[in-house]
Amino acid sequence: MIDHPYYDDKMREECGVFGVSGHPDAAALTALGLHALQHRGQEAAGIVAYDGEQFHSHRAMGLVGDNFSSEEIIQRLPGTSAIGHNRYSTAGDTVLRNVQPLFAEFSFGGLAIAHNGNLTNARSVRRDLIQRGCLFQSTTDTEIIIQLVAISLYSTVADRVIDALHQVQGAYSLVAMTRKKMIGVRDPYGVRPLVLGRLDGAYILSSETCALDIIGAEFVRDVEPGEIIIIDEIGLHSVKPFSKVNRRFCIFEYIYFARPDSIVEDRNVYDIRKRIGQELALESHIDADVIIPVPDSGVPAALGYAAKSGLPFELGIIRNHYVGRTFIEPTDNIRHLGVKLKHNANRSNIAGKRVILIDDSIVRGTTSLKIVAMVRAAGATEVHMRISSPPITGSCFYGIDTPKKDHLLAANYDVPGMAKRIGVDSLAFISVDGLYKAITAAKKDVDDPTFCDACFTGHYPIPLLDRDGGREQRQLPLLAES
Ligand code: SF4
Repeated sequence: MIDHPYYDDKMREECGVFGVSGHPDAAALTALGLHALQHRGQEAAGIVAYDGEQFHSHRAMGLVGDNFSSEEIIQRLPGTSAIGHNRYSTAGDTVLRNVQPLFAEFSFGGLAIAHNGNLTNARSVRRDLIQRGCLFQSTTDTEIIIQLVAISLYSTVADRVIDALHQVQGAYSLVAMTRKKMIGVRDPYGVRPLVLGRLDGAYILSSETCALDIIGAEFVRDVEPGEIIIIDEIGLHSVKPFSKVNRRFCIFEYIYFARPDSIVEDRNVYDIRKRIGQELALESHIDADVIIPVPDSGVPAALGYAAKSGLPFELGIIRNHYVGRTFIEPTDNIRHLGVKLKHNANRSNIAGKRVILIDDSIVRGTTSLKIVAMVRAAGATEVHMRISSPPITGSCFYGIDTPKKDHLLAANYDVPGMAKRIGVDSLAFISVDGLYKAITAAKKDVDDPTFCDACFTGHYPIPLLDRDGGREQRQLPLLAES
């Protein structure tokens, strides 16, 4: 995770993917879809379109709106099929050669691919491919899949993709496009989301339903864990070529990553976050005067907490939404302003009050420390913090950017120790069972948990082959590029 005052002290979703098959405005719709998925990656974006004869690509560093809002760019992406990608890098550097969708020429024609997630055997597969003579142009996991497709001995594209995916392990949702097909895949555990939609007869694939809403598409269903959807001129086919395993969707999507207006695995994210706040109040309420969310992500849980506790909800912290990453590089002289650039206390709702702050998570604790100091400086008589996730004690290896374990506050301190570090009068986190109850109305079934909760529990459902083989998970490119 980048240590920079303008970055939230948050876990970060790696990527968003989107695809349109069979619509005359495929690239424009894809740009809109990526715009709705901007929260899943803000460092780069790309679209590849196919016009029946040729593939066209535009990839750029920065936000979707900065790179895909001009008519001229969209006109350079003609055709009725397009796939797109938002990137926040966890595996591979953030340089243009890593920006997706990646594209390759094969004997069967072109293949464009966009991928959300992380392969847990990427390093070993990559090393084997290099030994077999494969030449890599990027440092992304996605190119590993492309190389495996390239050397596959199967004849059809779909069979080559299936063959490639049988050789990788990890968490992934991907969309791919050839001259005649669009392909959508979720890994066998279904860790990362992918949904299917329809618009005017066209098929849409998207990381989240909020991107279907922006283009007026109808939500059809989630792509199932381990399912490969193939869309061609005949229609939609579905295959499930992997050995069946119990599903393990990322529980953190409900806590923080997904947009609150999305429907994820048949549940509205906003409703779940409110329910988590209610459970949090049931588990750890303390006498106070006001409930204040740490905006924006703490708001739904704070609403649920306030409703359950009967205390007033107030926007006691205001967030400045216009602090972008392109804002001036801070000098040492202004670095100490830190979080104030992004958050300011709304003093009249805080002064003289016992405050319960609600946030969705504590990662390193650096932002919490500053926010608590700010709320105290605004006159709070007591500051209590309640967190709508369990303590994050381990890194994610499934496509979410997390600091190394020794930088995670909860990996180094118990709850009283964390409270002391961030300067609160009391601190509590929702329990793992409380989190499951908010989502499923039942405690965690340890034999079939349904969700991945590894960053809270250390139970990683997909083997961490690179890490457990003594190798770092992240790929180390030989070429440094700026
Ligand atoms: S380790 Fe945490 S963030 Fe990563 S997939 Fe599992 S629940 Fe999600």
